[in-house]
Amino acid sequence: MSVKTFSYEFTGPQWKGKTEFKTGNFINGEFVPGGSGKFIDVYNPTTGKVIAQISEGNAADVDLAVDAAQKAYDTVWGLKTPGFARGKLLIRLAELIEENVDELASLEALDNGKTFAAARNFDVVEAAACLRYYAGWADKIHGKVIETSEEKFGYTRHEPIGVVGQIIPWNFPFLMLAWKLGPALACGNTIVLKPSEFTSLTALRVCTLISAAGFPPGVVNIVLGYGQTVGAAISEHMKIEKVAFTGSTAVGRTIMKAAAGSNLKKVTLELGGKSPNVVFNDADVDQAVKWAAHGIYFNHGQTCCAGSRIYVQSGIYDSFIEKFTAHVKTLSTLVGDPFHPSTFQGPQVSQIQYDRIMHYIESGKSQGATLHLGGERHGTEGYFIQPTVFTDVEPHMKIVQEEIFGPVGVIAKFEDEEDVVRQANDTMYGLAAAVFSRDVGRAISVAHRLQAGTVWVNCVNMLNSQIPFGGFKQSGIGRELGEYALANYTNVKAVHVNIGTNM
Ligand code: NAD
Repeated sequence: MSVKTFSYEFTGPQWKGKTEFKTGNFINGEFVPGGSGKFIDVYNPTTGKVIAQISEGNAADVDLAVDAAQKAYDTVWGLKTPGFARGKLLIRLAELIEENVDELASLEALDNGKTFAAARNFDVVEAAACLRYYAGWADKIHGKVIETSEEKFGYTRHEPIGVVGQIIPWNFPFLMLAWKLGPALACGNTIVLKPSEFTSLTALRVCTLISAAGFPPGVVNIVLGYGQTVGAAISEHMKIEKVAFTGSTAVGRTIMKAAAGSNLKKVTLELGGKSPNVVFNDADVDQAVKWAAHGIYFNHGQTCCAGSRIYVQSGIYDSFIEKFTAHVKTLSTLVGDPFHPSTFQGPQVSQIQYDRIMHYIESGKSQGATLHLGGERHGTEGYFIQPTVFTDVEPHMKIVQEEIFGPVGVIAKFEDEEDVVRQANDTMYGLAAAVFSRDVGRAISVAHRLQAGTVWVNCVNMLNSQIPFGGFKQSGIGRELGEYALANYTNVKAVHVNIGTNM
């Protein structure tokens, strides 16, 4: 059994240079072959051609990774490395990421299809910022002293959990990795992480940076492979006390069942969405149009919090549609090569996603919605889809209820606040929402009535390491980012102390 090497020469225009790294599992600080002896083909979504092969891991590889993580936890990590030292390592990793930002962004654009500019200025830059943010927390994780009488007090310790499992998706491969590593490492846990089988390249590249930063072997382990094997083995593992998952609601359900059926490990889930974007008559229409387009078309619609349902009040509906149409027509001319500096939208990530999105477009048409713009393949190769808009939609339609995860938005009209709050909340999801209005009182009051873990007022898709992110309803359990994420990675222990002499 062998480990393959991925070698690729980027020819620009934004970055020229070579990347080269091993594509095996990363266990105990070394790249090792996958236990299955098989490989997974990695496709370039821009061309549909195979560019790399990564090892296909299996349950035995997860066992090896857990053993390495447990040994590292017991011998060198956890509280054996003080918070200050853990923070320094996280900062060093952030610096190394920043030093290699162009290479990492190129790799992400190649592997995922997102534009180089977005990968560089959002995914990679924000990933480094997230690690820096949690570096700051690493020496500030502590409990409280609680006095109950003159003779008795208790104190709490926020102890690391130990070995944690993490499973991430393909839409923001590098950023999701950072969201997972940052808080878990700051709190002193060791990690067994599975990237998506579609987009494992940046996770592999960062392994060498993790070693270079000085993290001891075994603190971060990456097992490559499919969800049904490696993902399931992590979810069911008896020695993993916590699993953090980002992905679809359907798989989130499977992971909860696996956790319930094994050791009742703690579960946090960051799942799908069908986020409403509400535009009132008194909104700045030009701004609302630009934000709404960003809300749905950013990252080719492959964003969990995509504003995929746009509700526009009747007084400005016609002018909104006119301006939105003109704006999206411009965006449609900017679909193409992710490495071209003016490209706004690259290909969808895979043939599977391409087919899925086209299927939804067909269902919109057959259920009677009006295909207002787009709806077709762009170009002749790769997985490109035109920015698409449906109007005349009804609440029961699949394109209104289900997460499409592509560049497909629906626009509906509403009359008043009651009407739009009802329509916006008519979904099993509750990840995010947005409100556009110049009346701050109304915007805030509607923000409070929307059932979503994040509500943006006069903006969309803003994410900050400092501010928690996560879902209501079937969009998830727990919160990532901010101080809130620390709770995912610590166990609170209460120690009761009797300083009196009598029982
Ligand atoms: P997915 O659920 O298909 O896969 C996510 C990960 O889970 C992958 O690594 C996959 O291999 C693994 N997996 C698949 N089956 C598994 C199983 N049975 N057991 C364990 N692991 C398994 O999701 P995806 O297609 O990669 O990503 C798209 C989804 O992710 C969308 O629904 C999107 O909304 C969601 N997402 C949510 C957030 C958030 O923060 N809420 C962020 C990004 C993406």
